Amino acid sequence: MKIIENVSLKEHSTMRLGGNARYYCEVKDMFELKEAVEFADSKSIDAIMIGIGSNIIWQDSGYPGLVIVSNIKNYEVNQSLNQVFITVGSGDNWDEVVAKTVESGLSGLEHLSLIPGTAGGTPIQNVGAYGGEISQTLTSLQAYDRELKDFITLSNADCEFGYRTSRFKGKDKGRFFIFSITFSLSKDPPRGPFYASLDSALKKQNITRPTSADIRREVINIRTNKLPDPKQYPNCGSFFANPIIELDQLREIKEDYPKIKYWELPEGNIKVSAAWLIEAIGLKGYVEKNTGMRVWDKQPLILVNDHATTTAQLVAFRDAVVDKIKNKFEITLTQEPEII
Ligand SMILES: Cc1cc2nc3c(=O)[nH]c(=O)nc-3n(C[C@H](O)[C@H](O)[C@H](O)COP(=O)(O)OP(=O)(O)OC[C@H]3O[C@@H](n4cnc5c(N)ncnc54)[C@H](O)[C@@H]3O)c2cc1C
Repeated sequence: MKIIENVSLKEHSTMRLGGNARYYCEVKDMFELKEAVEFADSKSIDAIMIGIGSNIIWQDSGYPGLVIVSNIKNYEVNQSLNQVFITVGSGDNWDEVVAKTVESGLSGLEHLSLIPGTAGGTPIQNVGAYGGEISQTLTSLQAYDRELKDFITLSNADCEFGYRTSRFKGKDKGRFFIFSITFSLSKDPPRGPFYASLDSALKKQNITRPTSADIRREVINIRTNKLPDPKQYPNCGSFFANPIIELDQLREIKEDYPKIKYWELPEGNIKVSAAWLIEAIGLKGYVEKNTGMRVWDKQPLILVNDHATTTAQLVAFRDAVVDKIKNKFEITLTQEPEII
């Protein structure tokens, strides 16, 4: 394993912005991973393990520690009655993992088709889409623990998953370096109810008992029509989380904006569509010349780097969007991808 100095991080974020890593390496197995973390320990510097950076925006000042890219690959299958356990490497391309499981007739991951990134990135924010979440099938993960200086296994419960979050994003950020993940999948077809847009796509084709391949195909169709391909249009997916407000505030907003899009949560609060808010302030499809940032026309929740060259430009544009929404609706948007 080679540790290189001063490596540009632009190619390690699908937003294509940011400075240099002080140190950089790629690891292909758990032993190289341990060696890399020990290097960071010996220099008393921070270390971060990443996939392809589809949820990371690097600061212009760069990363002052060691960036470890996971190239750890694996695909192991273990059967028990109707359950199938698959263990994959943290550096495996996520969509290729989903495709392999679907091709084998297994169900459990098909809703998460075409999400960019590596398998190792999925537990961090408990990735989810179209009614599926990684926490529904992940049974355990294997990681190097920088605190214990040892390899450990964490169960699903140990990961403390929540909506787009886990312990890896919160109190234990930077502590665990994941090298493999185990999922429990089923040989039975997927069970409904299905997410509204997916359900209507299936109904249009008269599919009442979809296979995991049907779900994967429809999810890919919906995503391809709606989302910008980061290779062509640099972006990090949904830029803002849907904000949660109280019922009273919704009533007030509804007086002026009866068409506001929202979902009622079981505990009584309201989740508002951040995409609707951005569209309501007239920014859908907007390209800002000064900052070089664009709001995607088919999904205004996505900010695209049209011709920005610095993260400062992205931050200025983000702040302007957040301020406009705050002024109009008294709602503060929060960001999904991390700025590191
Ligand atoms: C077009 C587009 C669509 C998207 N759609 C969705 C979606 O539908 N749902 C969704 O939830 N997300 C979505 N995302 C966000 C992103 O793809 C996911 O969060 C993905 O899982 C990130 O994987 P990655 O390998 O790129 O991780 P990175 O961006 O490289 O890293 C993200 C975080 O995970 C940590 N990390 C990564 N690998 C490891 C490891 N091996 N060990 C420890 N920590 C690690 C990093 O330190 C960082 O904190 C989308 C992004 C894009 C660009």
